[in-house]
Amino acid sequence: MRMTSQRKQILNLLKLAKRPLSAEMIYEQLPHDALNLSTVYRTLDLFFKEKMVAKSFMQQTTYYYLNEEKHHHYMICLGCQKMIEIACHLDDMEKDLADKHHFDIKYHDMTVYGYCQACQNK
Ligand SMILES: [Zn+2]
Ligand SMILES: [Zn+2]
Repeated sequence: MRMTSQRKQILNLLKLAKRPLSAEMIYEQLPHDALNLSTVYRTLDLFFKEKMVAKSFMQQTTYYYLNEEKHHHYMICLGCQKMIEIACHLDDMEKDLADKHHFDIKYHDMTVYGYCQACQNK
């Protein structure tokens, strides 16, 4: 994949954000003369195919985050929308499922929803 400056910019935003970003959030942070929203979507899609980013579907929006060496997921508070990074423990399960069902697994998605401690105490 060719690393254009636009692609670098988008990757960098995801790196700095330390939380999942939607395509719209990324678009808002970039100079608009350089690219449009559909370019952001296309770029994220490409990153996803290259396994450079992971995505989660939360509250009717797709959020993207860097797929680092330590693949992870998020817990989301339904009260304050706080996103808490959690380690992924699904790799073994994936292997079992692949064996059992002869399924060629390409990716998985998991998001945990609930209330954080602060919101429970409200
Ligand atoms: Zn909360
Ligand atoms: Zn995972």
